[in-house]
This record gives sequence, structure tokens and C-alpha cells, in this order.
Amino acid sequence: MPYYGSCYCRDIEYQLSLSSPDDARTSLCHCGSCKKAFGTNYGLTAKIPKDALRITKGATKEHVADNGSAVIHREFCANCGSFICEYGDAVKDQFRYLCVGSLDEPEVLPPKGEFFCSARADWMPEIPDVFHKQRIKE
Ligand SMILES: [Zn+2]
Ligand SMILES: [Zn+2]
Repeated sequence: MPYYGSCYCRDIEYQLSLSSPDDARTSLCHCGSCKKAFGTNYGLTAKIPKDALRITKGATKEHVADNGSAVIHREFCANCGSFICEYGDAVKDQFRYLCVGSLDEPEVLPPKGEFFCSARADWMPEIPDVFHKQRIKE
């Protein structure tokens, strides 16, 4: 099943190939690192096999940093700043965490869980009927 996405300015376009939407695990993350990286109060990513994501136009700019517990790679558009994906150095050959809002139809991959609920914004309710973990993003 092909899905399509891009950055805001469309300098970068990509195709996501999944045999089923169940091959993606979408989750919210409320950790401080995601708040900063997404520029909002939580991050929303879909864990997908690395080879499922193919950049079809342009090239992402990569930022690599140690957040204190892991080295995280973040890829974004150098022109408009849209965040495209991230991944820990330990899983860089296996997985990508795709920023769900960059999909042309983000609603195709609804969340299955929430991480770092211990850092949830006070005003934000829990998503019903999904898993909730106080901390770790696995
Ligand atoms: Zn862009
Ligand atoms: Zn996070």
C-alpha cells in the first residue's frame, strides 16, 4: 500500500510503502526532546521499517545529537524546516520514526499508544483505547 508525503514547501517528497497500515506503529511522545524537536507539546511519529520510506524528491538535512540517553538523528527540510523523520542511532539500519503530519493523508495512521505520559501537558487528555507508558520510547 503506497502512501505519499512531503515537507511544507514540497522540496522534499516521499513514498511510504506498507503491506498494511498495521505495519506502522504510530505513537505520541510527550518527552521534552520531542516537545523541542516538534515545536509543540508532543511528538507524533509512526515507527516503520527503514526500507518502507523512500525519498522521491529532494534530500533531507540531518541533525544528530545526544539527548542524554541516546544519539538521535533527525531529518528535516533545509528550506522550510518541516520535520520528516527521526531515529535512534542504535536502530538506524532498521527503523524510521516518520512524522505523521508530513503524510498527505495523516489520518491513515492513527495512534496505537503514548510514551512519556509522565511529561504530558496538564491540559491534554489521554487518547482512549491505546497503550500508555510513563516513560520509555521503545
Ligand atoms: Zn520544505
Ligand atoms: Zn519523545
